[in-house]
Parts: sequence; structure tokens; C-alpha cells
Amino acid sequence: MKRLTVEQLLGINKFMVDDEEAHIVLNKEICASCATKPCTFACPACLYTLKENGEVNFDYAGCLECGTCRAVCPKEGAIAWGYPRGGFGVSFRYG
Ligand code: SF4
Ligand code: SF4
Repeated sequence: MKRLTVEQLLGINKFMVDDEEAHIVLNKEICASCATKPCTFACPACLYTLKENGEVNFDYAGCLECGTCRAVCPKEGAIAWGYPRGGFGVSFRYG
């Protein structure tokens, strides 16, 4: 059986992106005071990235709804986390 890369596996999933309402919202002021920014290496979909100026960039469009970012975030109130509205979000198609 052929082994797939993480990117290939993620590409199999289907996403219904809610363009009107983000289900995860960051408080950028709180994030600016976060020294370690664990979200940038813990998110399995790599949705948290660092800009050149050190600011965290986040895109909820490919979210797997796993909750890892909420679990690893050390700053209370930095992440307003919820599931997408009904009809939106990820559909897992493999495993
Ligand atoms: S871990 Fe939390 S506080 Fe730190 S940058 Fe990420 S979302 Fe912001
Ligand atoms: S819930 Fe999971 S996939 Fe979605 S942004 Fe957080 S860590 Fe990434």
C-alpha cells in the first residue's frame, strides 16, 4: 500500500468554509505578548504561521477542528474557539 504524505492526506479532506463567520478568532494583542507561540508548531494543519515581524498569522479555512491550538495556548482569552456553524467545516474522507 502506498504511503501518503501529511499534505496528501490533508488534501483528501473536504472543507465547507464559512466566509461570513470565523469559528476561531485570535486576540492579536494577547498573542503579541506570547513568548513561545506553541500554536505555530502544534497545529496539525499548519494554520498558524509567523510573519516576518513576529506577528502570528492565522487562517481558519483548513481547520481540522481538533482543538490542539486551544489546548496548547498558554494565554487565557487569546483564542475564541468554537466549532463551525452547521453545514460548514471539515469532512474527513479517509480514515
Ligand atoms: S499560543 Fe495562544 S497566545 Fe500564543 S500566539 Fe498562539 S494563539 Fe496567541
Ligand atoms: S483546531 Fe486544530 S486544526 Fe484547527 S486551528 Fe486549532 S490546531 Fe489547527
